[in-house]
Amino acid sequence: MEKGLLYIVATPIGNLQDMTPRAIEVLKQVHRIAAEDTRRSGILLQQFAINTPMMALHEHNERVACEKLVKQLQAGESIALISDAGTPLISDPGYHLVRAAQDADCKVVPVPGASALLTALSAAGLPTDRFIFEGFMPTKAGPRQRRLEAMAQETCTLVYYEAPHRITDTLEAMVKAFGPEREAVIARELTKTFETIHRDNLAQLWEWVQNDANQQKGEIVILVEGAQEADEQYLSSEDSRIIELLASELPLKQASALAAKITGKKKNLLYQHMVEKGKKDK
Ligand code: SAM
Repeated sequence: MEKGLLYIVATPIGNLQDMTPRAIEVLKQVHRIAAEDTRRSGILLQQFAINTPMMALHEHNERVACEKLVKQLQAGESIALISDAGTPLISDPGYHLVRAAQDADCKVVPVPGASALLTALSAAGLPTDRFIFEGFMPTKAGPRQRRLEAMAQETCTLVYYEAPHRITDTLEAMVKAFGPEREAVIARELTKTFETIHRDNLAQLWEWVQNDANQQKGEIVILVEGAQEADEQYLSSEDSRIIELLASELPLKQASALAAKITGKKKNLLYQHMVEKGKKDK
């Protein structure tokens, strides 16, 4: 008997038009859909006239449900896994099922589509060539602070998922771990009516969120700029000469901005150099 295929199907993260034609076709054609929350997914499936039977697969029953699903795959049934929104397995259940299916020599077929991680990254305005997805952080303050501090020297862009009721505490913890000047982005309610993508330094972002209750609602991705590479943290003698020359002719803020353009170093680093030099020269 030919084994069935396990399809891992992404669904929209807000905007229903992001459902792909291939996802609809696969979900219509499989024998069964394994869904995180069958009631919630039922609403989505109804929108696309998909009447395939569903069964629940969530973090509390994943191992037991896995056994059942793998038997069905082995009996030749094809199965699609979906989560409440976005790509299954990305901060969502499915890992054990994928492993179990592969171990039973059943083919796993990804059907790609939306994910909040890549959607946020694509529009954040932070470097995307190297990034680290940290998913959800621990909910308790101590472990969360330690997790953040462990990443403080990482030079990749960092991506976090966060619940709205924890956003202000998390930003405060990020200010402590990464410093107030580190650039970050709040990507909220992506693809939905109140989509907001806001970039600023962490201190300003924290203040902005604290002062606007709307920013403490909905679904949120936080992206944090990586730490500076070691050679970006120091000024060469040529960098110092340029800022010192410009600062002798221009107000310090303007001189730092211009020197940053010339040297490629951070404005703040150049500014601080002159502040420190001023202290020494006194
Ligand atoms: N599997 C999903 C994916 O592919 O993105 C993620 C599921 S995880 C349980 C839910 C979290 O993803 C939310 O708490 C939020 O951090 C993020 N998220 C999901 N949809 C989002 C959206 N439309 N805008 C911003 N963040 C979103």
